[in-house]
Amino acid sequence: MKNISEMKFKSDITIIGAGVVGLAIAAQLAHRDRVVFVLEKNERFGQETSSRHSGVIHSGIYYPAGSLKAKLCVEGNRLLYELCGKRGIGHKKLGKLIVAATDAETGQLQELKAKGQGNGATGLKLISRSELKEMEPNVEGVAALLSPSTGIIDSHALMEHFAARAKDGGAEIAYRKKVVGLEKVSAGYKVAVEENDKGKFSFDTRILINCAGLQCDKVAELAGIDIDRAGYRLHYCKGEYFTVGGGKNRLVKRLIYPVPEVKGTGLGVHVTLDLEGRMRLGPNTQYVDSIDYAVDSRHKDSFYKSAKRMLPFIEYADLEPEMAGIRPKLQGPGEDVKDFVIRDESDKGLPGLINLIGIESPGLTSSPAIARYVARLVENIFR
Ligand SMILES: Cc1cc2nc3c(=O)[nH]c(=O)nc-3n(C[C@H](O)[C@H](O)[C@H](O)COP(=O)(O)OP(=O)(O)OC[C@H]3O[C@@H](n4cnc5c(N)ncnc54)[C@H](O)[C@@H]3O)c2cc1C
Repeated sequence: MKNISEMKFKSDITIIGAGVVGLAIAAQLAHRDRVVFVLEKNERFGQETSSRHSGVIHSGIYYPAGSLKAKLCVEGNRLLYELCGKRGIGHKKLGKLIVAATDAETGQLQELKAKGQGNGATGLKLISRSELKEMEPNVEGVAALLSPSTGIIDSHALMEHFAARAKDGGAEIAYRKKVVGLEKVSAGYKVAVEENDKGKFSFDTRILINCAGLQCDKVAELAGIDIDRAGYRLHYCKGEYFTVGGGKNRLVKRLIYPVPEVKGTGLGVHVTLDLEGRMRLGPNTQYVDSIDYAVDSRHKDSFYKSAKRMLPFIEYADLEPEMAGIRPKLQGPGEDVKDFVIRDESDKGLPGLINLIGIESPGLTSSPAIARYVARLVENIFR
């Protein structure tokens, strides 16, 4: 196969970004009679948001009815469990409890149950305080909503799987290649690429898929889109995590979440467990202007206070700053929740450009369903 640095080369499909979404799409689209490139500016895949998250396979409870987030999360949940089972990708269907701390919050549990069922989330069940005590003796609350299809996944292994499938299908994943320019040409797009220390080159592609995560709005702008008019300008929203030490990880069996705030920007500081059984709290939500993954240790107090309500066994000394991720949000501070944008931009005079904008949570869960959705858009363009 020809190498991407051979400058006269043309590709059928170029995907910008090797996060979990770009890789899932590459795995879905790669086949021998098509030239598919993935361009990634970093040294390896999954170095940004796709490795800075809770690693939860969501069930689809929270998202507005009929939204892409709801549909793709529910489909992605089913597809991920199938895939993990078939390919031996590390995962655990632990189940999750959304815990009401007060009687006033129990009404919200009923609303969440109805919303989740409407979206197609399976097995949701309201449970009483005594049932909660039986299931999770160390968790404090007056009632809870059980989501048995929520789980956790080894997202690195998932990305490895997608990358291997893409390569098996003939796709090339090219690292240290930053897309710095896009120009509409008669048969598609001219893509200008900056290679670390090696200068620039460009090539033509028929279809261009923008999966650039935190930079997706800038990439859309490179293609000539007025991102303010289109509503594509991202707001960065940081989420920090604290680990819980002191041997406390064995005291809960499931993922434990509070009732989310109305119009919230996140799901509330919650307890997640990883596949090794380590416990952590997070993520909080803070709008930020730039990408900086440092955890502010002064936030320990607020983590401690939020967690202590549900988990009385946690002591201040158990918490240590761990890591942070940044959500690529379309929802600005105080605004309503916004859906994923996944669209072919023909109506902006840019046929064959597929933008994926605002792929925040549940983007990891949705990744195989997003890939199928994008594949349908691509087939319509080729038709
Ligand atoms: C704190 C937090 C917790 C989360 N928890 C969950 C969860 O539990 N479950 C869940 O389902 N989802 C969760 N998510 C969401 C999930 O992590 C993301 O939706 C998903 O990782 C997005 O993947 P991506 O491929 O779109 O983006 P990314 O992983 O950011 O990948 C984009 C890639 O594009 C590359 N790129 C950017 N610009 C260029 C350019 N010009 N040229 C070449 N390459 C470029 C970047 O280097 C990057 O590798 C969470 C997110 C956060 C921040």
